[in-house]
Amino acid sequence: MLKKILASILCIAALTSFSACSESGSGGKSTPAPTPGKLKVYVSLNALKEFARAVGGDKVDVTAMIPDGAKPHAFEPKAQDVAGLSKADVLIINGLGMEPWAEKTISAAGNKNLITVEASKGVAAIKIEDEEEIKEHGQYDPHTWLSLKCAQTEVRNIRDAFSRADPSNRDYYEKNCESYVSQLESLYNEFSAKFSTAASKNFVTGHAAFAYLCRDFGLSQNSVEDVFSEGEPSPQKLALLVEYCRKNKVTTIFAEEMASPEVSKALAREVGAKVETIYTLAGSEDGKSYLERMRINLSRIYESLASTRQA
Ligand SMILES: [Zn+2]
Repeated sequence: MLKKILASILCIAALTSFSACSESGSGGKSTPAPTPGKLKVYVSLNALKEFARAVGGDKVDVTAMIPDGAKPHAFEPKAQDVAGLSKADVLIINGLGMEPWAEKTISAAGNKNLITVEASKGVAAIKIEDEEEIKEHGQYDPHTWLSLKCAQTEVRNIRDAFSRADPSNRDYYEKNCESYVSQLESLYNEFSAKFSTAASKNFVTGHAAFAYLCRDFGLSQNSVEDVFSEGEPSPQKLALLVEYCRKNKVTTIFAEEMASPEVSKALAREVGAKVETIYTLAGSEDGKSYLERMRINLSRIYESLASTRQA
């Protein structure tokens, strides 16, 4: 029985990997015309675009390089990105192996005035364990933007970069930064209290993007795909996931648009769980802000843990 189900899950996985290839195109992104007097800011990810706008307000024009709907770990910059960077004031990357293309792209842009900021600088980075992943991507998990605590560091690093690029508006950036940081902290406090009472601390999702979020709240993740969302799960991995879900009485499997959603759905059917969408905030999703999406993610995770079947 289990073998048959695993075979059908794998079959779905093989089919979806084909369609995923065709989705990682440029996504029709266009470079906005820069407004004179505003800082021209490039960022890699959507979450960083939100942080940059929160700090920079009406003093910045922000362009995200990774198109909506693209697989963020497989992104390669295009000629238009290099052209944009050659005229930009600030480039914000996340760092920790999220943008392996950064160094080459910065040097191709040849812009000696460009200020580059690594948003995750100063975060206590989480080491990954898989040797293949370390060989390919370095030793750290890059998903810091999915943590409300790490996001505060990222926002402050962005404030520092803007103040350096545009010192006459230092006070403005400082004020915006502190106001956004306090919103992040208040959402953190709200869910910190909730998670401390949750019946279970273990959840299952599409790819292992939530290690920092888990650290914030004392939770633990298991996933269909690895940290860098590569390859398809092996039959052994799927069998372990089924066992994990049963043992931990998992009631919800979180599915991500870009990480084998069909496998998440098949796994949910197999263990009698429901499927919920979770946001990874690398592209824009459902027209919702960073804070809205984080609140939805945290609420859904909390509901799933609070409703875990009791033994
Ligand atoms: Zn990821």
